[in-house]
Amino acid sequence: MTLMKSWVESANRAECPFPLNNLPYGVFTTNSLEPRCGVAIGDMILDLSAAEEVGLIELAENPVFDVPYWNDVMELGPEAWEILRARLQELLVEGASEQATVAPHLVPMSEARMEMPIVVAEYTDFYAGRHHATNVGTMFRGAENALPPNWLHIPIGYNGRASSVVVSGTDVIRPNGQTKAPDADTPSFGPCKRLDIELEMGAIVGTASELGHPVSVAQADEMIFGYVLLNDWSARDIQAWEYQPLGPFQAKAFATSISPWIVTRAALEPFRTSTPARERELLPYLQEPKPMLYDIDLSVTIQPQGGAKTTICETNYKEMYYSAAQQLAHHASSGCAMTPGDLLGSGTISGPEKHQRGSLLELSWGGKEPVDIGNGQTRSFIEDGDTLTLHGAAKGDGYLIGFGACTGTIKPAVKFP
Ligand code: MN
Repeated sequence: MTLMKSWVESANRAECPFPLNNLPYGVFTTNSLEPRCGVAIGDMILDLSAAEEVGLIELAENPVFDVPYWNDVMELGPEAWEILRARLQELLVEGASEQATVAPHLVPMSEARMEMPIVVAEYTDFYAGRHHATNVGTMFRGAENALPPNWLHIPIGYNGRASSVVVSGTDVIRPNGQTKAPDADTPSFGPCKRLDIELEMGAIVGTASELGHPVSVAQADEMIFGYVLLNDWSARDIQAWEYQPLGPFQAKAFATSISPWIVTRAALEPFRTSTPARERELLPYLQEPKPMLYDIDLSVTIQPQGGAKTTICETNYKEMYYSAAQQLAHHASSGCAMTPGDLLGSGTISGPEKHQRGSLLELSWGGKEPVDIGNGQTRSFIEDGDTLTLHGAAKGDGYLIGFGACTGTIKPAVKFP
């Protein structure tokens, strides 16, 4: 696959994250436009609500793009998703006959504010990166007990909170919580002292599964509408005290940030790659009929208030042990109904090397090896005023499938009433 050229010139530059090959979906607003669905092309957004109104796109009997979420489009199903993508490529390709009709509905990205692209139905976070699970397990339980006995057989997860999933750019307030220092007799309550990130991908479920009915891994793959970058902000001191035996609770419930553009499964198709070799054969219901992961370069930057941006992690989505399709198949295996708008966090994506670790907990090895962030500053965990940003792009032959950024700045904890 090579670059597909568009008449929107900015989409044809090699470093552009949003060429015609990509066409990610988001929700935007401007000073004069109500929140609505749009598609990114170069440094512009095609206003799909306007395009629908003038009859350039007709996906359903009633309008589906004049609302601030993609859930209605997702519910139309994979056939409609294909029709939409084909129509958008037809409208935006170099030499398109309808260029003059489409052009007035392009909005410069610089004038737009991005909002949440979906109504998150429910949010589940997994723990499916082997390097991350091994690193964290070694720190919490020792090297010999690093991977729990179920880990090589089950994509482990927990049910998170949809109510605190926020779009990139939203400030994150440092959480308060209950903690207990290892040498203290009693717990205390106050602002988190070990605030962290988790570099993850989010898979967005586009079609429903029926209550009581499992789905195969192949069916699960077809149910996925697209992917975003996801930062599973984590309060490590709260987590360490509360997590046994039911897993994280308040340590993860205060905020989860996602990037505003949903990169579709179709756009990522050329980048499919296999999960790593299985150490233990998986049970048949979890086995993949074809490659289900994607080769996506990922990185994290930190920027202290008034300071410069420094990259602290560079890794790749293909490091995951389980794919989103396997996680979704496992999620539905009990008969749990999955819903359009369900968000599945991949789990922290760490590689085998030190600079590939996707959390500060791992990068600073629990605070023992503070990370150099330039200008004589170090970080073991996040400080107030720090801005953390995730970046991601699949790299094709002369083009990128970019995700844009997933960013958040930490604000001081709220004084407890
Ligand atoms: Mn996580």
